[in-house]
Amino acid sequence: MSPESSPGSAADEGVLADGLDFICLDAQLSEEERAVRDSVARLVHERVLPLIAECFEAGRFPRELVPEFARLGLFGATLHGYGCAGLNAVSYGLICRELERGDSGLRSLVSVQSSLCMYPLDAYGSDAQKQQWLPRLARGEALACFGLTESQGGSDPGAMRTRARRAGEDWILSGSKMWITNAPIADVALIWAQTEQGVRGFLVERGTPGFSAQEIAHKFSLRASSTGALFLDEVRVPAAAILPHALGLKAPLSCLSQARFGIAWGALGAAQACLAEALAHAGERVLFGRPLSHTQAAQIRLAEMVRGLASAQAMALQLARLKDAGTLTPAQISLGKWHSCRVALDIARECRDLLGGAGISLEHATLRHLLNLETVVTYEGTQTVHQLAVGRALTGHAAF
Ligand SMILES: Cc1cc2nc3c(=O)[nH]c(=O)nc-3n(C[C@H](O)[C@H](O)[C@H](O)COP(=O)(O)OP(=O)(O)OC[C@H]3O[C@@H](n4cnc5c(N)ncnc54)[C@H](O)[C@@H]3O)c2cc1C
Repeated sequence: MSPESSPGSAADEGVLADGLDFICLDAQLSEEERAVRDSVARLVHERVLPLIAECFEAGRFPRELVPEFARLGLFGATLHGYGCAGLNAVSYGLICRELERGDSGLRSLVSVQSSLCMYPLDAYGSDAQKQQWLPRLARGEALACFGLTESQGGSDPGAMRTRARRAGEDWILSGSKMWITNAPIADVALIWAQTEQGVRGFLVERGTPGFSAQEIAHKFSLRASSTGALFLDEVRVPAAAILPHALGLKAPLSCLSQARFGIAWGALGAAQACLAEALAHAGERVLFGRPLSHTQAAQIRLAEMVRGLASAQAMALQLARLKDAGTLTPAQISLGKWHSCRVALDIARECRDLLGGAGISLEHATLRHLLNLETVVTYEGTQTVHQLAVGRALTGHAAF
């Protein structure tokens, strides 16, 4: 028997594995991918961690970080041109993971700006729309939001009630959107509306008559992110506001695929932050005369967490490689988003418990991550919706 196949042998004694990268996936990263990972990790360590607990407690979006994220090229990082970094999918995943080690709300900011707003502008926008918005969004001089969900049911966007009708050359939009990240602070909203041609996307600028946003208060999750409702009361926009190449519901769904891919990575950053905190705590906490980490029960619980984390990390990396190869399917993204969120939530709950009473305090990061993950598992498609997407891919039948 080789040393590797004999757990508990002398060869294993004293060997401390990295629980956050147990199967050494980071060793597979290219030099550029590692540089991206390290620069975002540094930003999170130096600028995010010192202020995020206070922001979460106060329910404040740390707007002062936007220029710093922009300087690192985090907005629209995979796009080419317009001042964007042109990075690959693995790098985008790493950006999401490292940001969410800080807080899911800040990863949400980057996901919405990049995947839900800059991606559709690039994929479906006119040249004039791209020139007007992409450089400003990349520089963080403007913020954008993505208005798809409505109060009657986010899982079923095809039932949307927001309507756009022609008025000569212009369009008139009426309806409302609910649970929209960045809505109260966005300079431009991408509003999805039913038209006689099916679902179309419209760029509606802040200050347009009849268009208003309202902050959603009393959130117990993503408190460092601004979330709001949008109201459109006979809002008139010019023909130039419609995304010319976005036709039908598949356009907003394609944006969600981009963002869900990022979440499959991001949620694991939150899980890693919780696991790191629990590992440190278990090593220091002395109960019944020995550190908690020396007990079988704690070790089994930590090992179970690492089992989930390593499998989700491996899946996320493989999905990124498929994305870079151009073969990633929406059902594969559904599997990744669902799996990572499930793993991260389970880890956050276990870590919260291992921290004991201290685990309910904002002095530790774990409860903040746990509360955030309750949103992350819900938005961009709930667990059930992604299970049904995988089920449809397996059987050929939609059971939504
Ligand atoms: C903080 C936050 C930020 C958000 N940001 C944005 C944003 O920027 N833009 C945007 O457009 N949206 C955003 N959302 C909305 C989010 O995408 C929706 O909340 C999500 O899609 C779920 O929709 P819902 O809340 O209406 O729940 P519902 O769709 O009403 O779902 C309720 C329950 O029914 C289950 N369910 C759904 N379908 C089925 C079925 N066929 N069979 C069995 N069970 C089913 C769901 O899994 C869930 O458990 C955000 C949400 C939150 C909380």
